[in-house]
Amino acid sequence: MKIAVVGTGYVGLVSGTCFAETGNKVTCIDIDEKKVAKLSKGEITIYEPGLEKVFLRNLNEGRLKFTTSLEEGVKDASIIFLALPTPPGADGSADLKYVLGVADHLGKILTDYKVIVDKSTVPVGTAAKVHAAIAANYKGEFDVVSNPEFLREGVAVDDFMKPDRVVIGASTERAKKLMGELYAPYVRQGNPVIFMDEKSAELTKYAANSFLATKISFMNEVAQLCERLGADVDMVRRGIGSDDRIGKRFLFPGIGYGGSCFPKDVQALIMSSEEVGYDFQILKAVEDVNEKQKLHLIPKITKYFENNLAGKHFAIWGLAFKPNTDDIREAPALYLIKSLTEAGATVTAFDPEAMPNVKGVIGDKITYATSQYEALDNADALIIATEWAEFRTPDFEIMEAKLKTKVIFDGRNLFDATQIRNAGYHYESIGRP
Ligand code: NAD
Repeated sequence: MKIAVVGTGYVGLVSGTCFAETGNKVTCIDIDEKKVAKLSKGEITIYEPGLEKVFLRNLNEGRLKFTTSLEEGVKDASIIFLALPTPPGADGSADLKYVLGVADHLGKILTDYKVIVDKSTVPVGTAAKVHAAIAANYKGEFDVVSNPEFLREGVAVDDFMKPDRVVIGASTERAKKLMGELYAPYVRQGNPVIFMDEKSAELTKYAANSFLATKISFMNEVAQLCERLGADVDMVRRGIGSDDRIGKRFLFPGIGYGGSCFPKDVQALIMSSEEVGYDFQILKAVEDVNEKQKLHLIPKITKYFENNLAGKHFAIWGLAFKPNTDDIREAPALYLIKSLTEAGATVTAFDPEAMPNVKGVIGDKITYATSQYEALDNADALIIATEWAEFRTPDFEIMEAKLKTKVIFDGRNLFDATQIRNAGYHYESIGRP
């Protein structure tokens, strides 16, 4: 099949590459000229494990192309995916200007039947808006389909190639048939392709992300309670997670969820609910808990340093919002850095992949280390903000030699608390005695 993907970011690049991997001819379109130039030369623009190899293979075999021209990119495609940003607007609702802007442009250039697919996370009713925006200028036949994306950054290629499920909101047989054929190679093990109406598909994505965010905020509240009652959240987690109805995943407390999806999708669903006169109370609490949790370590740190962080120097391990990505959107580490530097402290950080992105946003406000150990030089304490695997079993002897004082604030519960305290560290984590 010939496919066009409009928007070549985390979702667009992974989707385009993985569609090419099963033999489709894919053109990815982006307005960012530098990005298109780099990708056309075979330079990958995001860090995503396993992506580069598949990207290069498909680029070299001529199945993957990049362009800045929407017209050229969609000309031969039978399916056009919109993988465009849907950032929060001023009131928190999803801003559809990118999606509707491209839909309007498509209306002016379409010449034959195509399926236009919303892959971006968009509020209920967007498929109808996209349809109207195209129909305003194009009088020929076309269908609009909602096909939300569930990939996780860090394991995006695997998620795309072997999705737990594919959700397709479509109302014509012609569009359903094309979408079913496109996804068939990805669900050969029998995972479901679930066809539904467009509105239900749109809501499915928000409900999924909001439910996962709820699980995280719930466990963060349980952790708060553990700290006050002297219970151990790790034990509680294992105790409840072995119940099939609850499940083991997404029960890890920490310093809050971040990233480009959960915060904005929770906000957008609250706003969508308000627009139809419904007060989605649980989600407001989920958001509120997360806001507080991002700074949960700060009072602990302040108390340890007797209310005076001025002149203190901190090492931070981890800047990305989660491991195995360079994505720093809404990363809890950035909130910590802001709070520490405003209190007069200095910070040296290390992250295996995300440092260039952080530099792009906050520049020289902090210093950047070339290794996790270099970051510790002369630090009054180490703060762990992201659970990269390489931080889990560090060389404690090197750490001891580098840190000014043996103090660790662990926002991701990486270490065995007893063991590390026996080694002479002052150690504070989340929800553990
Ligand atoms: P992104 O910011 O990484 O990528 C968006 C791309 O669109 C950018 O490269 C940008 O230059 C490009 N763009 C903007 N306007 C354009 C235009 N008019 N024409 C062509 N290109 C244009 O965003 P993302 O993380 O890939 O997310 C895209 C959508 O997918 C969002 O709705 C998001 O909520 C959703 N989503 C994201 C993830 C994720 O893990 N990142 C997962 C599932 C769903």
